Amino acid sequence: MKPDKPAPPKGKSNRIPPQWSTVLWYLPIMFIFLWMWQQAFSNLSVRTIPYSEFKTLVRNGEVVEAAVRADTIEGKVQPKAQAPSKTPNNQTSTNAVSADANKPFLFRTVRVEDPKLVEEMEAANVKFVGMRPGFLSQFLFAWILPIGLMFLLWSFLSRRMSGGGGAGQSILSFGKSRARLVAEKETGVNFNDVAGCDEAKYELQEVVDFLKNPDRYKSLGAKIPKGVLLVGPPGTGKTLLAKAVAGEAQVPFFQLSGSDFVEMFVGVGAARVRDLFVQAKAQAPCIVFIDELDAIGRERGVHVGPVNDEREQTLNALLVEMDGFAPNAGVILLAATNRPEVLDRALLRPGRFDRQVIVDAPDVAGREAILRVHTRLVPLGQNVDLRQIARATPGFSGADLANAVNEAALLAARRHARQIDQRDLEEAVEKVVAGPERKSRRLTEEIKRRVAYHEVGHALVAAHSKHSDPVHKISIIPRGRAALGYTMQLPAEDQFLMTQSELLDRIRGALGGRAAEEVVYGEVTTGAENDLERVTALARQMICLFGMNERIGLARAAQRQGPFYLHGADGSFQRDCSEKTAEEIDEEVKKLLDKAYAEAKEILIQHREQLEMVTAELIKQESMDGKTFKELIGMSNRDGDESQEPITPRPGVLTNL
Ligand code: ADP
Ligand code: MG
Ligand code: ZN
Repeated sequence: MKPDKPAPPKGKSNRIPPQWSTVLWYLPIMFIFLWMWQQAFSNLSVRTIPYSEFKTLVRNGEVVEAAVRADTIEGKVQPKAQAPSKTPNNQTSTNAVSADANKPFLFRTVRVEDPKLVEEMEAANVKFVGMRPGFLSQFLFAWILPIGLMFLLWSFLSRRMSGGGGAGQSILSFGKSRARLVAEKETGVNFNDVAGCDEAKYELQEVVDFLKNPDRYKSLGAKIPKGVLLVGPPGTGKTLLAKAVAGEAQVPFFQLSGSDFVEMFVGVGAARVRDLFVQAKAQAPCIVFIDELDAIGRERGVHVGPVNDEREQTLNALLVEMDGFAPNAGVILLAATNRPEVLDRALLRPGRFDRQVIVDAPDVAGREAILRVHTRLVPLGQNVDLRQIARATPGFSGADLANAVNEAALLAARRHARQIDQRDLEEAVEKVVAGPERKSRRLTEEIKRRVAYHEVGHALVAAHSKHSDPVHKISIIPRGRAALGYTMQLPAEDQFLMTQSELLDRIRGALGGRAAEEVVYGEVTTGAENDLERVTALARQMICLFGMNERIGLARAAQRQGPFYLHGADGSFQRDCSEKTAEEIDEEVKKLLDKAYAEAKEILIQHREQLEMVTAELIKQESMDGKTFKELIGMSNRDGDESQEPITPRPGVLTNL
């Protein structure tokens, strides 16, 4: 791809099948052509005759000239008028000639061992010469010319297929890099469009700076890292950041995804890597961005099979190329992945992707900034408080927030509003968290009542536990696939650490729903399944991972599995202890849950009148915010400052029915 030409349209770049079909067409046609050419060349106006006929012609004195070569005799025949009738033995050739029997023609015959030939020719007065084969001219004419023609045709075809100009993929370029070259400013993104990851931006600013003023760094002997790896959960803006770096630095930007390298054929990916680096070095200073690096960068030697061979070769080529250029050559590699734990360690060693930039899920301030970025172009109502929405969305990634803003715009459009209101935003956030409302799902009064008791049970137990997150909303409007109702609790701040009491209070609150059912009806429903699943997992983690049980002690009894960003409350675990310990763990889990459940029931029995009152109100209103709930149970807001009150659930603290 030539730098000054615009990149080919995207759709053209991955059409391998049509090219293959052309190749399949082209080859047989060309072979037939070549074969026919050679036939025609040798037969061109030259008649091949049997040796016996040649001898007859000589005896008749009809041969005027003859050139005797190593294995053929060629020459010219001037037939006499009555010649055909005089050669009755050679019917085939006579018939063929009879049409224009008196015309002179060129002949060729295969030479047969015949010592007397010269004498006979002398006798017949033939002009003859001995000749060595005109090797060069013959070779040129029979081989070089047709092959040259074929080549011309080939390049014409392949140019046609590459969409003109020969700039993009052609048949001859299987191994060529598919990097898209984005001319400067064309990404249309700069650092202002990325919010909430200031540390990452700070680190990358250095790269931008170097690309703009390399001399300042060189004069100090500072070495800029060759490779920078952006690591973070999906949707936190890694791809966006890389584009922003290119937009800021205004240097050529090669963007491609890890999977672009990997092809069906072993070695193609490696060829692409080499080609990419040739291009990049020619364009320095520039940025090469490899998205989803884990597609090629996985640990080598773990799997077997042809696909793996290809990946390993590609990775090796990448490693070699990364070592192959000087640190300050001006080529900087950016890569993004959300699975750093599967990457080959050789990729991460100094001199390669030694700089890692963490792009984490944003905190409150970051979320507010991201919301600002995404609401820049939408008309917001007077009452919109983005700070409050930011507080209501712990655990949201940048992509989630962008999605929520879009949902809000859709909701506003649906009610023909001119502006997006706070309530659109809140509804959108809830929709993203808990799924869309299902107003059509009609619950009978009896089921509604049960759901209401269950949800109020969660809320009351939480409200009467000292360390639990404040209740933000209670609702019995069905949402999403399964939830018939839900209680949202929100931590006051982003939580990075949880105390044992907080964990216990959370378990107790989650059991409050079932406890309420038992206290009110003396019987339970299937509705608590999700609650039980979560409390069991939480209790197990406390005992196995956090060392919060005296009997099991500090030894870690399980291993976490799954990608690093799931290491929050969820994620899966693998047991890592003896059978005996496992049994003990089960007993301790049961003990812990039984105790929490008993406490939850106790709280509800003590506050039975609150349970009845709030439930009656909830059945009337169907949903209730945290403030109303607290007023009903006569609890003032804990710190009296409404603006400090948190609003939504970190994902997973949502207590479904
Ligand atoms: P990743 O590559 O980390 O999975 P992307 O960069 O593709 O995530 O982000 C997807 C979209 O989410 C972006 O196009 C942007 O609209 C939005 N987004 C994500 N993070 C941010 C952020 N920090 N600031 C602004 N927008 C963001
Ligand atoms: Mg991405
Ligand atoms: Zn529940």
